[in-house]
Formats: sequence, structure tokens, C-alpha cells
Amino acid sequence: MFCPQCWNPLTKVIDSRINENGTNIRRRRECEKCGRRFTTFEQIELVNINVIKSDNELERYDRQKLEESILIACNKRNVERELITHMLNKLENSWWWIKEISTKEIGKEVLNELKNIDQVAYIRYASVHLKFEDIKDFLEFIQKEFF
Ligand SMILES: [Zn+2]
Repeated sequence: MFCPQCWNPLTKVIDSRINENGTNIRRRRECEKCGRRFTTFEQIELVNINVIKSDNELERYDRQKLEESILIACNKRNVERELITHMLNKLENSWWWIKEISTKEIGKEVLNELKNIDQVAYIRYASVHLKFEDIKDFLEFIQKEFF
């Protein structure tokens, strides 16, 4: 790691902090030559998989994209961001051994998790993921899931 100021490659770590999930670490470094301090960030790559879309196209798994779709379902609900982070970590950890997963499968797993987190978010996510067309689809789903 080069010093951003003088490009000297010798820097020493003066502080390390691991986040609570143990998935990333921040290191405070100091240049041994000019004394400039800077921070580096290391993150575990939890998954390295392809996602099979509904049109059979392959796409690299993108955590941010999945997170956004979940956040939309949770909009204005009282769902802590941390719960979503935990959910994503849990799902990704369960995928470490696979190479491909379909969007359908991901959706199903997200729904399983969301069900225990927030019912409204669960129904919203289901309505997008299971492609509800009208109120009848909503009612059938709710009937089936909750009664
Ligand atoms: Zn330096």
C-alpha cells in the first residue's frame, strides 16, 4: 500500500477495526517516511456467483442491487437497516459453494427472510417478485400466507 502523499511503499498499521459482522476491516496506516496517515478498507468477498435472470441471461451477482430491491419493499416501514445487512450476509453465506443462482431462487430466499422481519415489506416484495397483476392476486397470496 503506497502512501497517498509521497508514494513511499512502507506504511505501518496503527489501528485496526473489524465491523460487527466480521466481514470488513478498516486499518489506520501511517507512512514511515512522511508521517501521513490514511485509512484502508478490506472486505471479504462473500459471493462470487452468477445470477440467472428470467430471460436466461447471466449476470454477475450484485449485492447492492439486491439490497436496493429489498429497501424499496421496506420503504417507510420500521425495518432497521442492520436487519437487512444481516439478512444479506446470511443469504450470501449460504451461497458460498454455488456458482449460479436464479433470480427466482433469490427472490424465494429473500421472501423467506422478509416474512419474519416485516409483513408489509414481505407482501410488497412478493407482489413484485411473484408478479401480482391485480387485487385478486394480492388477496389470494395474503389468504394463502396469513390465514
Ligand atoms: Zn509518505
